[in-house]
Amino acid sequence: MISVQLAYIGLGSNIASPIEQVRQALSELATLPLCRLVASSSIYASRPVGPQDQPDFINAVAALETRLSPLALLDQLQALEQQHRRQRQRHWGPRTLDLDLLLYGDSQINTPRLSVPHPHMTARAFVLAPLAEIAPSLHVNQAPLSAWLERIDSPHPNQGLKRLTEV
Ligand code: ADP
Ligand code: MG
Repeated sequence: MISVQLAYIGLGSNIASPIEQVRQALSELATLPLCRLVASSSIYASRPVGPQDQPDFINAVAALETRLSPLALLDQLQALEQQHRRQRQRHWGPRTLDLDLLLYGDSQINTPRLSVPHPHMTARAFVLAPLAEIAPSLHVNQAPLSAWLERIDSPHPNQGLKRLTEV
């Protein structure tokens, strides 16, 4: 039996009513077996990474207490992505739902299927800002989230990330 771990999940969507996709995914995360949703961030909007000829992304971060192993949790996240009929068309292209396992306790995992901490998370405002909202004192790779955010303050503060307050 795995002891309870605190995992953080990054959510993203940029097609097919992305705000609804993310809202629905947050409620689905709350129903995963051996998991308890303990926090979820506000909803944010960000410019796409990679190809720019696609809609803005909607993002959020959730905290889950879980007794699932990291790979069992990834299986559940990928099953949810499939339920949202995610189509992998091109790398960093549009998607109805992307669920990334950002952190799993203090674990460092490097396998072909799973890298934790998520390798890009310290460079992405759309992960760091919502994460800081729900876990302000968290450290990733030995540095506080605020330090990672300061490093990516150009060319635009927080990479043009917007917190959506009216949704
Ligand atoms: P991205 O999220 O980088 O746009 P995908 O969602 O298409 O890319 O994920 C591609 C692969 O990344 C998945 O098949 C999965 O096995 C792998 N992967 C590695 N580490 C992680 C992680 N921490 N969270 C989610 N997927 C991961
Ligand atoms: Mg992903």
